[in-house]
Amino acid sequence: MLYIKDRDNLKSFIPEEKIFEYLETTKNPDKFKVREIIQKSLNKNRLDPEEMATLLNVEDEELLEEIFEGARELKRRIYGNRIVLFAPLYIGNECINNCQYCGFRVTNKNIVRRSLSIEEVKKEVEALEDKGHKRLIVVFGEHPKYNAKFMTETIRTIYNTKKGKGEIRRVNVNAAPQTVEDYKLFKEVGIGTFQIFQETYHRETYKKYHISGPKSNYLWRLYGLDRAFQAGLDDVGIGALFGLYDWKFEAMGLLYHTIHFEERFNVGPHTISFPRIEPALDTPIAERPPYALDDKNFKKLVAILRLAVPYTGLILTAREPVEIRNEVLKFGVSQIDGGSSIGVGSYSETDEEKIKKSQFLLGDNRTLDQIIEELCEEGYLPSFCTGCYRLGRTGEHFMEFAIPGFVKRFCTPNAVLTFLEYLEDYAPESTKKIGAKRIEEEIKNMQDSPLKKELLQKIEKIKAGERDLYF
Ligand code: SAM
Ligand code: SF4
Repeated sequence: MLYIKDRDNLKSFIPEEKIFEYLETTKNPDKFKVREIIQKSLNKNRLDPEEMATLLNVEDEELLEEIFEGARELKRRIYGNRIVLFAPLYIGNECINNCQYCGFRVTNKNIVRRSLSIEEVKKEVEALEDKGHKRLIVVFGEHPKYNAKFMTETIRTIYNTKKGKGEIRRVNVNAAPQTVEDYKLFKEVGIGTFQIFQETYHRETYKKYHISGPKSNYLWRLYGLDRAFQAGLDDVGIGALFGLYDWKFEAMGLLYHTIHFEERFNVGPHTISFPRIEPALDTPIAERPPYALDDKNFKKLVAILRLAVPYTGLILTAREPVEIRNEVLKFGVSQIDGGSSIGVGSYSETDEEKIKKSQFLLGDNRTLDQIIEELCEEGYLPSFCTGCYRLGRTGEHFMEFAIPGFVKRFCTPNAVLTFLEYLEDYAPESTKKIGAKRIEEEIKNMQDSPLKKELLQKIEKIKAGERDLYF
């Protein structure tokens, strides 16, 4: 196979020695230096590795608070109040890999293996649409059954499944790295972001936890999204799984990955994810991760990622405890999943036992509506917007960041319109009230302008039954 040859010619772009050196030489940083770095980020510049290492080495509580405040300030200045909501949809948990932290791994004999048929996919999508979702991320194990053709057919089915006023307007993907040819099929079907998490950027650690199967090849995965770019997909998401190795090293890995994209493709990643290892069925490592990341350092991680790569979307999983979630949302997290269920078939299935056995993580029991209510109470504006992607404005995070007024011109009005659709079509009375108040506040904060006038007209149209209006 052609791609085997490709694999052999690759070299890692993660300079491990250099990372250790930076993390060592920047210990006990000077406060003026730290302030200078925060300021560089507030001036909308991506940080360099040595600067990120300096921030990672801040232990002084007051200085740490300045980092947190810097992240909050960056969010306030650039991103506004919107939080984009999406749901993960697990299509199949069969897998030929042997990732020690994952309940889907090939050696786990206790998990019930299941792949959704096209009919079952439709049912799941309808159940998600009934809750008000507009954006999904589809998740697949790695298995010959889930080839690119199968995956893209599934995505096509999702786009074509419409129930009542419901429709899925954007499908993101989290799946195994593909060949350039296979990525082209994903481009054809029109996906949003293709996500691949490197899990750990530390090569020895990677080897230790990825024992067999295609995923045991570190470089094939490391270059997985380069091939997506080569196929014309320029909307990619990177991530690391926190708990396998030193969190500071992983944060540096994410930054080097970002720089690699900037240098090679002139654009950084669309999103960065930073899941912490969660318990999984019959998976001892997930019960007790070797480098468990505590809440305090998790907060520090999110704030530093925000400052280091100010233009990128940060994705937080709703499984993080509410207190942590509320704190890190203030640092500029842009997307969270809501009302997620992570068993295969679990949105429409009623057999609880069956769901439990096909699930790989413990679920978050809050419904989408509960999460929306909580977000409103905290002053956020829930958004289901897919405007940029559908108007071909790819790289929207970069535009939000780089084009003055972009958020005010497009993102906030689109958040208002999509949130209003949710309130009209799916929300119970209590959420309707809170939501209407939030929308009122957002509109009050807008200056009188032709844009505001147009928004108010569109709001009336939605109230009268029109859907899918955006700027
Ligand atoms: N099979 C594909 C892959 O490995 O890239 C995609 C599906 S896999 C389930 C998606 C992600 O789940 C992985 O990249 C990993 O970071 C995450 N994951 C696996 N086990 C986990 C656990 N115990 N806790 C939290 N996240 C986990
Ligand atoms: Fe399979 Fe992905 Fe789980 Fe690894 S993380 S066992 S590749 S589903």
